[in-house]
Amino acid sequence: MARHQHRVRVDALAAQMSLNAAEIKHLQVMRVRSGDSVLVFDGRGAAGEAELTQLDAFGARLKLLGRTETSTEYPQPVTLGIALLKGDKLSDVVRAATELGVAHFQLLQTRYADVPDIGENKLTRLRRIAEEAAKQSQRSVVPEIAPPMPLAQFRPGGQVFYAHPGSPARLLDELTWYSPLTLISGPEGGFSPEDLVQLGLAGAAGVTLGPRILRAETAPMALLGALAASGV
Ligand code: SAM
Repeated sequence: MARHQHRVRVDALAAQMSLNAAEIKHLQVMRVRSGDSVLVFDGRGAAGEAELTQLDAFGARLKLLGRTETSTEYPQPVTLGIALLKGDKLSDVVRAATELGVAHFQLLQTRYADVPDIGENKLTRLRRIAEEAAKQSQRSVVPEIAPPMPLAQFRPGGQVFYAHPGSPARLLDELTWYSPLTLISGPEGGFSPEDLVQLGLAGAAGVTLGPRILRAETAPMALLGALAASGV
């Protein structure tokens, strides 16, 4: 039976590495011991296998055994621009969207946003969820989560699409992987006419997710599910 290797985040891949307190605690809880091998990743795309040479009250040391060349990332980085949502919905979106390969999140303040802003604690929690989801889905990139900004200030480059009911275009008909991709999903109340003007100014194209109206937390999964199902 294949041996399960724990994944731990390091600052950078190097011949000798140390771990922060949270990663040490994680390995101790999982009963990993000196001499065991683990998978290491830096959160920016580099990953490899390492041997744990020390794990005790004084800290943890790792020796790099080799780098992993296979990538679990899309050919171009994918950004999800997501309108602020109520309650724990953003947590659910961040967790699933990280598994589905998002490299950056931009939280967006839209005219009909469910909430006007989120606090620093919630942002920290979202970043922790992204890190856990990246580990769980065997990614070596931990997505960045940028603090909320008004939609009018969001000017991503590359290909930009926003989900809007009734749009005639379909994402997979329009998408190429020649440049970074940004997907934007609206709040429960949808995009206002002003938001739609701003999206047009940002060079974004509207796409449909079918004739059914999806909840604001479901729509990003449909956008990203289309990418995942294309097998890229
Ligand atoms: N009455 C709102 C409207 O017409 O936009 C419904 C908003 S919907 C609950 C929340 C968000 O999910 C929308 O802003 C859009 O980004 C996305 N969405 C939901 N269903 C969609 C669909 N069928 N096609 C495209 N986008 C959709």
